[in-house]
Amino acid sequence: MPTELTDYDPTLGNKFIFVTGGVMSGLGKGITAASTGRLLANAGFDVTAVKIDPYLNVDAGTMNPYQHGEVYVLKDGGEVDLDLGNYERFLDVDMTFDHNVTTGKTYRHVIEKERAGDYLGKTVQIIPHVTDDIKRRIREAAEGHDVCIIEVGGTVGDIEGMPYLEALRQFAHEEEDGDILFTHVTLVPYSKNGEQKTKPTQHSVKELRSIGLQPDVLVGRCEDKLDPETKEKIALFCDVPTEAVFSNPDVEDIYHVPLMVEEEGLDEYVMQELGLQERAIPAADRANEWREIVTQEATDEVDVALVGKYGLEDAYMSIHESLKHAGFETNTEVNVLWVDADEMDAAHAERMERADGIIVPGGFGARGTQGKIDAVQYARENDVPFLGLCLGFQMAVVEFARNVCGFEGAHSAEMEADTPHPVIDILPEQYEVEDMGGTMRLGAHETDIEPGTLAHEVYGDDSCTERHRHRYEVNPEYIDDLESAGLKFSGRAGNRMEILELPDHPYFFGTQFHPEFRSRPGRASPPFVELIETILESTGEDPEEVAA
Ligand code: GLN
Repeated sequence: MPTELTDYDPTLGNKFIFVTGGVMSGLGKGITAASTGRLLANAGFDVTAVKIDPYLNVDAGTMNPYQHGEVYVLKDGGEVDLDLGNYERFLDVDMTFDHNVTTGKTYRHVIEKERAGDYLGKTVQIIPHVTDDIKRRIREAAEGHDVCIIEVGGTVGDIEGMPYLEALRQFAHEEEDGDILFTHVTLVPYSKNGEQKTKPTQHSVKELRSIGLQPDVLVGRCEDKLDPETKEKIALFCDVPTEAVFSNPDVEDIYHVPLMVEEEGLDEYVMQELGLQERAIPAADRANEWREIVTQEATDEVDVALVGKYGLEDAYMSIHESLKHAGFETNTEVNVLWVDADEMDAAHAERMERADGIIVPGGFGARGTQGKIDAVQYARENDVPFLGLCLGFQMAVVEFARNVCGFEGAHSAEMEADTPHPVIDILPEQYEVEDMGGTMRLGAHETDIEPGTLAHEVYGDDSCTERHRHRYEVNPEYIDDLESAGLKFSGRAGNRMEILELPDHPYFFGTQFHPEFRSRPGRASPPFVELIETILESTGEDPEEVAA
């Protein structure tokens, strides 16, 4: 369980950008905020972020990916909202558990303090005790950084969000005016006759003001850029200068949002309002790598099948992003073909067989496992480049045990407790664990890589440190049998099997860890890059030449 920060130093000199959302959720305010952060980082500032999730869960670890998308894992083992993944990818930083503030975490802390007698004699209340704790968490996360972007999840007006907005109001009261900026992201829809409508924005700003918050900057999410008249109307009714109203139109690729934000001048406006301009690297000298990486033309196209059970792109967000990063690195457009492991009908099977490579991702529970095992078998027998991640790694072991070693009924003890061959079994340290939240083997752990193996070629090193999230692992009693039948465990951490490969296959690679959580534009995850490069080689393209 990651530790929580305690006291903070109130003598900080940093700047805070608060980002709220109006009208409806899912507007992409996280991407807007992360994009602004990227541009500030390009201008030389050390930027970090905090995501506030006003739900009562302590963390995202026990949440169903169907409802909230993937659970993102940080290096310290924090299981957090997927927006933190976007901040890590856009800002190219590693964040910690303290950067995800939830109602569960905050209330638990306040109640624990009450039980310990820290508030002795006082009535413990949302204001000031919960709001103080919220402010403390924001200040601590911001410590040591020039700029901290704080995104409040949900929509203004939600009951759950109220204590946070009150905390922000107090925060603004306590800090210097020039150190804080409120950005509000809303929806600007089109009417039937093609007019951009500002009423939802007006209502949402009215709601914000009723709690004592006046936005400094308004960002309108719209299909297109906002017309000048729309901007003027928003400025007039929401009481901000017209220059403080920005568009955030739909773009093809989220990685192009920073380019859009830059074009609109939002970064310059933010720097001006926060008094950062004198300290910023002059525009002409700023790093331009991001633009170069995300706008290069792909010279090739490949299809990768993703054989999972959650039919929602967000449930596998980091895998989709890792494939994009690997595509940037190899000048390849990677199309993901969705294959439902739970309903492997003819159409899904046909799609899998049409793909140039197969990924079996992580997951929990028995549903869909047979489809995953079938996908592994198909990839193994037909020399199709294959990457198995966490549960995908475990299913590769199960498939090999059943179909190559001949261990009939081999399975993971997670799926079948009384399997005759528990080739995947519960981690010994999990025997006594009863709670579900925050109790898996989590976060960054080092893996030793055997020289001369594919894993060594992929990582180019004797070790790698990747993020984990699992309760089960390869049963040490079966390692000799599996290896003498040809499966190679090329990465280990003591007695734990971390990487597997098949020497006689073009690319059959599995990892007990989740490499997708460390992939970034410009620093793609090696197992993903190797997957795409192998595909390009097998389809006759020389990746070296393509890259040149
Ligand atoms: N359910 C498996 C385990 O707990 C795999 C976890 C995962 O894929 N993240 O070990």
